[in-house]
Amino acid sequence: MAWDRFGRKIRYLRISLTDHCNLRCVYCMPAEMSFMPGEEIMQDDEILRLVRLFARLGFDKYRLTGGEPTVRANVVGLVRGIADTPGVRSLTMTTNGVLFSRLAEPLVNAGLKRVNFSLDTLDPEKFHQITRWGHIEDVMAGIRAAEEAGLIPIKINAVVVRGHNEEDTVSLARLTLEHPWQVRFIEMMPFAGATEFQRLQGVRAEEIQTRIEAAVGPLQVENGGNLDGEARLYRLPNAQGTVGFIASVTQPFCSSCSRVRLTADGRLRLCLLREKEIDLLSPLRAGASDEALRQLVLDAIWQKPWGHNLADGEVPMNRTMSQIGG
Ligand code: SAM
Ligand code: SF4
Repeated sequence: MAWDRFGRKIRYLRISLTDHCNLRCVYCMPAEMSFMPGEEIMQDDEILRLVRLFARLGFDKYRLTGGEPTVRANVVGLVRGIADTPGVRSLTMTTNGVLFSRLAEPLVNAGLKRVNFSLDTLDPEKFHQITRWGHIEDVMAGIRAAEEAGLIPIKINAVVVRGHNEEDTVSLARLTLEHPWQVRFIEMMPFAGATEFQRLQGVRAEEIQTRIEAAVGPLQVENGGNLDGEARLYRLPNAQGTVGFIASVTQPFCSSCSRVRLTADGRLRLCLLREKEIDLLSPLRAGASDEALRQLVLDAIWQKPWGHNLADGEVPMNRTMSQIGG
């Protein structure tokens, strides 16, 4: 088991399969983005070796992310390899959905259990503006395919950006009236790449909630008011699905954090919003034994920071969000 020095049991690993992406969302990366050379990215066998090691440490929950995980070559084979690793109980993915319509079924057959889609508006024009490159019909086809393939409940993540999509939160929330989906609104966080924009145009969860309630009706607390992962859940009157708020900036959930992240270049990132990382790939490539890697991971996790310090203006600047994976 892996514990940090604050007594938090750490058992959830988010793995970034690549820093590449087929979109260029304004809140995530700059328009002119450069990517890591292929040889710096973990190979399939390196990822699988690290997963075996984490699984033996009691990590039972895994999420694949990016950049965009579906643009990684052999993503289906990699999902199969991770899903088949003893100790892996839950394997999920976060995707922009653009390529998902043809991947849903092969991924389910390989062992994927659930998927989160990122969708910030239902307006095709705005979607194209926010993602710079995307077409919303591809994402909607991906969501339909995921539902048909049994990757339920569908979760949809929307980052709310002032001047771009704060009005669209209402139509997104309305999706839950007809669909048994969880639509979650995320407060924008600052990283390298678009920091000023991220800082100035964020919208507080509270404001989004007020807007939705004024337009659609009261939101009733779900899940006994407890967090579901990082989201606080509510239901609109007679809705099939739920509305969630991920208030990472204004109401951090650090005390219940059980996760660490593995970047595509094999660094163990201990907190999303802190720069501290431990290089696992270089020692692995230099021939470190499983025991040596295991000790490196345990020592790193012990050092996991308590939480972020955004309130005091401390912004993690060593990576863009796309290079961490969310
Ligand atoms: N490409 C995939 C996707 O878009 O779902 C996975 C990677 S993306 C970095 C993971 C999540 O982070 C997405 O839901 C995205 O909307 C969110 N995200 C990106 N930049 C963000 C920011 N500055 N603040 C908060 N969330 C952000
Ligand atoms: Fe790509 Fe996801 Fe970042 Fe958008 S949020 S640019 S889809 S990594």
